[in-house]
Amino acid sequence: MSQFLEISGLKARIDADGQEKQILRGVDLSIPPGEVHAIMGPNGCGKSTLSYVLAGREDYEVTAGSVLFKGQDLLAMEPEERAAAGLFLAFQAPVELPGVNNANFLRTAVNAVRRARGQDELDAVAFLKLARTAAKELSMAPDMLKRNVNVGFSGGEKKRNEVLQMTMLEPSFAILDETDSGLDVDALRIVAEGVNRLRSPQFSALVITHHQKLLDYLVPDRIHVMAQGRIILSGGPELAREIDREGYTKFLAEAEAA
Ligand code: ADP
Ligand code: MG
Ligand code: MG
Repeated sequence: MSQFLEISGLKARIDADGQEKQILRGVDLSIPPGEVHAIMGPNGCGKSTLSYVLAGREDYEVTAGSVLFKGQDLLAMEPEERAAAGLFLAFQAPVELPGVNNANFLRTAVNAVRRARGQDELDAVAFLKLARTAAKELSMAPDMLKRNVNVGFSGGEKKRNEVLQMTMLEPSFAILDETDSGLDVDALRIVAEGVNRLRSPQFSALVITHHQKLLDYLVPDRIHVMAQGRIILSGGPELAREIDREGYTKFLAEAEAA
């Protein structure tokens, strides 16, 4: 049976100031439905690039490989089609949108996805009711919905806002790219609980993180280690604890020797 998400031999590069730079060098990764997987790996190994390529960001050129999402060719889909199909990406650096009201922004995104899925749009009242409940569950201050998107938000508030978006968009597959960076322990737990609340046999997630603490709360089904644009090693949750104790060097050396 084909997997929920199946990445095979994925290579991607970027044109950096006229120079082709190969970043992904053959990524193989399968995520079954209902599982949460984590990717760890040293800075600059291509983790964010992988998430951008999956989300359909245009600056990256895919030169080889394939990505099947629920049996569909993900790479052939427009970013909006990917979102409609259930993909969600929480960015490492959420953008600030001055002059754009957070609740309106979120309602537009939610209704675009609902339309594409053949669901009724939410009117302002119905939407606000759901959004307020979701914001409360994330311990967000009530005024966060009234403010401009991410403008003047603290690091932790931006990450909570990403988790709020994720919760409201009801994705079947979420990628969280270092949604934990810069968060204190309480906020980490809230991000993890946001993901855990979505857990179901129809929901999978790929969590990019450096933090054992986040993984303690999330308890991923599988951990993958990325280095130089490839997945070099996969294992159970104990692999994250080993990395936390010993660093990446040992694993990178072993992979090189193999
Ligand atoms: P990670 O998220 O694992 O830290 P990235 O995917 O952000 O790594 O980056 C992988 C490599 O690709 C790095 O060497 C980075 O500098 C380079 N890279 C990523 N995006 C660009 C870009 N827009 N222009 C030039 N180089 C880039
Ligand atoms: Mg990085
Ligand atoms: Mg990154």
